[in-house]
Amino acid sequence: MRLLIMGPQGVGKGTQAALLAEHYGIPAISTGDIFRYNIKNRTELGLEALKYTDKGELVPDELTNTIVKDRLAMDDAQGGWILDGYPRNASQVEALDAMLAELGTPLDKVVALDADHEVLMERIAKRAAEQGRSDDTPEAIAKRLATYAKETEPLLDIYRDRGQLVAIDGVGEINAIQAAIVEVLG
Ligand code: AMP
Repeated sequence: MRLLIMGPQGVGKGTQAALLAEHYGIPAISTGDIFRYNIKNRTELGLEALKYTDKGELVPDELTNTIVKDRLAMDDAQGGWILDGYPRNASQVEALDAMLAELGTPLDKVVALDADHEVLMERIAKRAAEQGRSDDTPEAIAKRLATYAKETEPLLDIYRDRGQLVAIDGVGEINAIQAAIVEVLG
């Protein structure tokens, strides 16, 4: 199973991606987690990414596309994967299309989670208090929501047109949302 999980910050993508990964026995690949790991370990990639992540801006496509390509080439990704947080703009969709064409492994479905603005803000505030992520400042949060609306949300139309979109309500109990996703994916 090769899946994307898309939706605004705070909608529960990471949580649902982890549960789907467990259900299907595939790795959940989060570009945000890869950047955070590299930032924590002060790698060259991390130091470059930090210039953007802390401001709530997207890391340049070239760098982001490369880490995804490298990650999809790893052994544990050969039987499928779920990508969380990628693609985030039209150019990343093109890059992913090219990667998958080259690998000969088409995408199965795109799970889109959504929730009202108020619900998202509440969850983001809770996460900021619990996890203390350095990019959870009010300015960075607002920037990420704006970037999502402008650059990422329109991508849902692309996948809808391709007949791959599965839209799920992200409000409710975690296990009930998971069950709804699995039911639609089959
Ligand atoms: P996330 O955990 O998905 O919210 O990602 C945290 C941060 O990592 C984002 O605010 C971006 O700065 C960066 N990032 C994650 N995924 C991408 C992507 N696909 N393209 C560009 N930047 C990304």
